[in-house]
Amino acid sequence: MNPETRLFIDGELVPAASGKTYPNISPVTEEVVGETADAGPEDMDRAIAAARRAFDETDWSTNHAFRLQCLTQLRDALREVEDEFREQIMAETGATLFTCGEMGPQCENPIRFMDYTLETLPQFEWSRDIGETQYMVKSRRLVEKEAVGVVACITPWNVPLQINLAKCVPALAAGCTVILKPAPDTPWSATMLGRLVKEKTDIPAGVFNVVTSENPAEVGDQLVGDPRVDMVSFTGSTAVGKHIMARAAQTVKKVFLELGGKSANIILDDADLDGSLLSCLAVCYHAGQGCAIQTRLLIPRARQAEVEDKLKTFFGFIDYGDPMSESQLMGPLVNAKQRERVLGYIEKGKAEGARVLLGGGAPAHLEKGYYVEPTVLVDVTNDMTVAREEIFGPVLSVIAYEDEEDAIRIANDSDYGLSGAVWAASEERALAVARRIRTGTINVNGGNFYAPDAPFGGYKQSGVGREMGPEGFEEYLETKTIAIAV
Ligand code: NAD
Repeated sequence: MNPETRLFIDGELVPAASGKTYPNISPVTEEVVGETADAGPEDMDRAIAAARRAFDETDWSTNHAFRLQCLTQLRDALREVEDEFREQIMAETGATLFTCGEMGPQCENPIRFMDYTLETLPQFEWSRDIGETQYMVKSRRLVEKEAVGVVACITPWNVPLQINLAKCVPALAAGCTVILKPAPDTPWSATMLGRLVKEKTDIPAGVFNVVTSENPAEVGDQLVGDPRVDMVSFTGSTAVGKHIMARAAQTVKKVFLELGGKSANIILDDADLDGSLLSCLAVCYHAGQGCAIQTRLLIPRARQAEVEDKLKTFFGFIDYGDPMSESQLMGPLVNAKQRERVLGYIEKGKAEGARVLLGGGAPAHLEKGYYVEPTVLVDVTNDMTVAREEIFGPVLSVIAYEDEEDAIRIANDSDYGLSGAVWAASEERALAVARRIRTGTINVNGGNFYAPDAPFGGYKQSGVGREMGPEGFEEYLETKTIAIAV
């Protein structure tokens, strides 16, 4: 591995001004795999100044053809180092090889997804003529789209490359300049982008900056509060999202938030039980560290015994321990703190009356790594903590419902509204229920929304705005109406 350990500020790969670094720890071996620059306020200030200057004083925001050329260079560079990137992502996230390939969002797919932006950019309608108006002064009007300005992209650790690219690529394509602040646990998925931009593209100095820090609150608050920053594009927990929204309000910044979820997988009474229950294994995907994973399983009460038997069989298929195995869905959690948090939720579930059908602790057979056993909690009611709060671990909460109306009510009885799934014997029935669920995405009878042209985001406390698809590009644009007297 040859990870990039430096910050990328104003076109230069640099150590932190203080010279400080912090360790990057493998969730699999619990050992230090390398160091990364630990930025402080002085570094963040330089990055913001550079991004502001690059936006105000270069033609980056207006030269569409040049941006396309630069982003094509970046895409080509990413393809060249895909294997190296995969190795680094696995080292810092604990993701398995399986989730880094074509069946996952960790490495291969996010790089492929860049093609969508590169293909749509040349066709984008930057200006449209909406004709004349007679109101007050006879005028001809143009509606023009312009870059928002300097964008702070703040990202989490669970799928770092996917989210770094899903934010930075459309922001840069729109003509914005960017300061990327990744999560402390996954710095290399961001710093490597800085190296590629520096060495393989003509992107001008200051247009793209990467600032890593072990103390996100310090440089994060600075970034969000700075009046030179026009927009914050954030993915992370709802708690930090609320803090960011409140802080950004002081300077009335545009805020785009992708937050947590507690999605429901609704199995209607006539659904194929085998197919629908197999989909529950997704709760172990990347050890449950996915915002859109369906962590509440809603089943008809009359079929509860049958469901429990099948879940025991299916969860028995889950094997974990070696992230290099090509069939493994599940690696460890990202760090010791997350493991303690997940184990704490399981204990809370038991204390509130849930029954542990499977798992429930740290696996005895693995001495190293922040693993939690695949865990199924049954007899859960929707008012329990394990049904209301995001656990972010391999834990499924099974809730029985009385009838279809009850299932819809339970699914929608959540502070979150990110995703979900519905299964029924007919597409028509499943679709009718899907349309009544208050979430930003929903899968029907085993469908899957994840693709570069499909907008993704949340209702309610799961967020504001959409990532990917045309909506994900337009987040980074302002709209200007020009009226010309005729
Ligand atoms: P987190 O909220 O703890 O951190 C997210 C980012 O915010 C990190 O870069 C962190 O360093 C930064 N941060 C923390 N305090 C800050 C502050 N005061 N100012 C500015 N930035 C600050 O989230 P996490 O633990 O890294 O990630 C897990 C969470 O992310 C889960 O809740 C998950 O649901 C959510 N998530 C959501 C989506 C989505 O698209 N909706 C996708 C992935 C993850």
